[in-house]
Amino acid sequence: MAFIEVKNLYKRYDMGETVIMANDNLNFEIERGEFALIIGPSGAGKSTFLNILGGMDRASDGSILIDGKDITKLNERELTTYRRYDMGFVFQFYNLMPNLTALENVELATQIVKDAKDPKKVLEDVGLKDRMDNFPSQLSGGEQQRVSIARAIAKNPKLLMCDEPTGALDYKTGKQILSLLKDLSRSTNTTVIVITHNKAIAPAADRVIEIADSKIRNVTLNKNPESID
Ligand code: ADP
Ligand code: ADP
Repeated sequence: MAFIEVKNLYKRYDMGETVIMANDNLNFEIERGEFALIIGPSGAGKSTFLNILGGMDRASDGSILIDGKDITKLNERELTTYRRYDMGFVFQFYNLMPNLTALENVELATQIVKDAKDPKKVLEDVGLKDRMDNFPSQLSGGEQQRVSIARAIAKNPKLLMCDEPTGALDYKTGKQILSLLKDLSRSTNTTVIVITHNKAIAPAADRVIEIADSKIRNVTLNKNPESID
């Protein structure tokens, strides 16, 4: 059994007269420790899927098994626990606390987690050894995204979910961030799922899931993925 199994997953938005089918019978798997990409045009249904996988939204039908457990069946309390302890999130616009330093941002996220990693060590791992005491406004976009990645992985999550993590960065910095995320999946065996419109990175991923028109268009497995230069 794969680490993540998506089965007959549907998400409908009822808009009065019309129904928008945002996820239309998705079926695919992701193995533990993979660096997986979800690509596809705007409006394809990528964020909808990630929101359901992350426990931020409910599926209309179907199931998502993680380690054999169906997360679509969790009640609200269980979902909160799942979001808090099992998931790490990275977003396009970093979502850091502006009045806290890089280190304090990471510490805040780890406070409630029992088996959290050492915030200083994690910030070193993402290349920010000398910037820990800086506030977000004193950091570049790429550095702020590194802080938000550190904040997410410090919780020791089962799954790291990244929604357009390079969307606000220039191409070169975006590549460095994707390279960091891939390295983290390798060094920590954390499953990393990234939504990106950067198709150039596809040969470097273990698995590429293409979504178009709310459906799975194609799934590609790379046995020997290229490195991100
Ligand atoms: P992507 O992330 O690939 O750009 P989305 O998952 O955001 O695509 O959107 C998929 C479809 O679902 C789009 O047609 C979008 O307009 C629609 N949609 C997304 N969220 C909502 C919502 N809360 N209410 C109604 N329609 C939505
Ligand atoms: P290359 O020069 O390596 O061929 P391009 O600059 O042509 O790469 O971009 C390849 C793809 O990556 C294009 O689809 C482009 O829209 C996308 N892209 C460019 N910059 C970024 C970025 N900062 N984040 C995500 N995707 C990007």
